[in-house]
Amino acid sequence: MSTPPQEVGARLATTLPGVGPAVAAALQRLGLVTLQDLWFHLPLRYEDKTRITAIRDLRVGDTAQVEGRIEAFEKGFRFRAQLRIAIVDDSAQTLLLRFFHFNNAQVNQLAIGTRLRCYGEVRRGAQCLEMVHPQYQRLAADTEQAVEERLTPIYPTTEGLGQKRLAGLIERALALLPSDAALELIPQPLREAQHLTSLRAALLYVHRPPPDADMSQLMLGAHPTQRRLAFEELLAQHLSLKRLRARLRAHHAPVLRGDGKLRKRFLQALSFAPTRAQQRVAAEVARDLGASAPMLRLVQGDVGSGKTIVAALAAVAAAEAGYQAALMAPTEILAEQHFINFHKWLSPLGVEVVWLAGKLKGRVRAQALARIADGAAVAIGTHALMQEAVIFDRLGLAIIDEQHRFGVHQRLALRDKGRAAPRNSGAEAGGPNNKHGQAEVQVPHQLVLTATPIPRTLAMTAYADLDVSIIDQLPPGRTPVTTVALSSSRRGEVIERIRAACAEGRQAYWVCTTIEESEILLAQAAEVAFAELCAALPDMRIGLVHGRLKPAEKQAVMDAFKRGELALLVATTVIEVGVDVPNASLMVIENAERLGLAQLHQLRGRVGRGSAKSSCVLLYQPPLSAMARQRLDVLRETSDGFRIAEKDLELRGPGEVLGTRQTGEISLRVADLARDAHLLPAIQRVGEVLLRDHADLVERLIARWIGQAARFADA
Ligand code: ADP
Ligand code: MG
Repeated sequence: MSTPPQEVGARLATTLPGVGPAVAAALQRLGLVTLQDLWFHLPLRYEDKTRITAIRDLRVGDTAQVEGRIEAFEKGFRFRAQLRIAIVDDSAQTLLLRFFHFNNAQVNQLAIGTRLRCYGEVRRGAQCLEMVHPQYQRLAADTEQAVEERLTPIYPTTEGLGQKRLAGLIERALALLPSDAALELIPQPLREAQHLTSLRAALLYVHRPPPDADMSQLMLGAHPTQRRLAFEELLAQHLSLKRLRARLRAHHAPVLRGDGKLRKRFLQALSFAPTRAQQRVAAEVARDLGASAPMLRLVQGDVGSGKTIVAALAAVAAAEAGYQAALMAPTEILAEQHFINFHKWLSPLGVEVVWLAGKLKGRVRAQALARIADGAAVAIGTHALMQEAVIFDRLGLAIIDEQHRFGVHQRLALRDKGRAAPRNSGAEAGGPNNKHGQAEVQVPHQLVLTATPIPRTLAMTAYADLDVSIIDQLPPGRTPVTTVALSSSRRGEVIERIRAACAEGRQAYWVCTTIEESEILLAQAAEVAFAELCAALPDMRIGLVHGRLKPAEKQAVMDAFKRGELALLVATTVIEVGVDVPNASLMVIENAERLGLAQLHQLRGRVGRGSAKSSCVLLYQPPLSAMARQRLDVLRETSDGFRIAEKDLELRGPGEVLGTRQTGEISLRVADLARDAHLLPAIQRVGEVLLRDHADLVERLIARWIGQAARFADA
């Protein structure tokens, strides 16, 4: 009674009566620690036991509750043990109940004349309608027994905690739900403007829907009370990223404002002029770099839009100002390719570029580390760049390519490389340090590049901590890629097509896939396809590249393909990101139905980069599932990365769109980003007001919905 109302939610669930060690452990496994956790543990679905349906009115496929007397009873073996019970109700119709698992105690309670109330799905039987393994209870002979007053919530649960038990605990917790005034964290004027019901009302409704509730709407999560909860959850997510951003921005970054001379020389040496979109985005980046608040910018640009130049310009800007830049890419092939490009572009300007991959060992690695510690201008590599042994001298800019492959925490790890610690405190511990031993905390600017266009709505939550620049224009002279989907039975024709294309001097990719993303299986599939294609096209120069080759071997093959010495490149999805051979104008993707939209779009982006008319053949193994058919159709219809990403979100859901690494960071309890995306603009507006006027509520909202999961906030 003495607890202030807003703290009731923080009370431990174990203080509820009847929670022994076993139940407590089960609750723990479900992540239910406090009363508040129980309030927000929402039903998966509902059962409607608020009415009795006459057997006469049952329809096949319905889930219904019926009541009747046992008229016939048979326990027997027909292929397997079976208990069959016929019940008859007041409508004088018969319903057959079938059980395949039963015990004697159960059977002994059932006899001709016993009254039963059953709940189950109605099926068509040979003689009459049936229910298989319905829930049932015996009723006393003549007394009326009331039906449920509300829809029955069914909760996600775990072993050791039965549905009834959990529902009972949640009921107990709900009984302690404080008043609106104490519970509500979104101020009333804001709530009213968004037509949001009170939180208390919403919680009570979803846990105890009345008999007339629209169950199908509830199941879809489309009820206004569910929308209310989703709104608050997404708001909390949004605010937590905003807060993370504010904390990062409170640090200092070096002001990278060079004289522009190197950048000018760099651009002059390029064989093309940047597009207007590239210039605009590069200017946005340059402006950020010239400020002492750390840049947190995401550059979104479709495959082939030329993000690399923007990154290179930023790196040169850092070099001009006497600072280092690090460029991290998710795969070795991509990192190597960046290294080759940057080396080619920057070495003539006197800007040193160092290569650091995880596979570098021994002396070579030591040398690379020494160069980085000594201040080499640009370091390029894979995750290896984030390892503790890598110490930068003056890291001013961290560039992360293909962001969707990395999570927020990895981004932060590279950022920490810029922190200066007092001399000697970090070297042995492997912590961040620099040779100047400056004590102030400086963080590098962050530039994040992504080719997977993130739907705007998703970007607003998952990337609310980043400013966004969009390269919305492709370099001139690109030709749209014609895409066709063909059954694998037409493989022979496709091989003919490759022969014809290559005879004209064009180059082609043959991409192999496997169901599992295993490097070994992928490599095997590629070996098989390679052998087959070599046999079918004996006069052609064919290369093979997969993830199990040594980097040098991979590079040799890629180089030969780039120089045009190979006409056909058989590859695994290792070529998905970044690989750039403009003369390649034909791509065949085997078993395309196995891949997701984003990945197919990425792969297809490898062609259509030169002036030749390009095409992409999606070979599929029939029969196609409806889902796979839709995916292939989307690709045939559009090459607009944003539309593809929106479709992808629709078909797969946000977790998969963002990649597994990030699903852990935005694991949502109530909201569904695809379903509730339309709420996001309003969430942004409400978020702004809260951040401006109600800092205390912001903290409590984040604590309520994210709790300990907000660990990144302190990073
Ligand atoms: P992505 O955005 O997919 O990373 P890249 O940076 O790899 O794209 O660029 C794709 C190709 O387009 C590269 O060959 C690059 O040299 C070329 N390119 C980039 N910008 C331009 C431009 N403005 N004009 C012509 N070609 C360009
Ligand atoms: Mg790229």
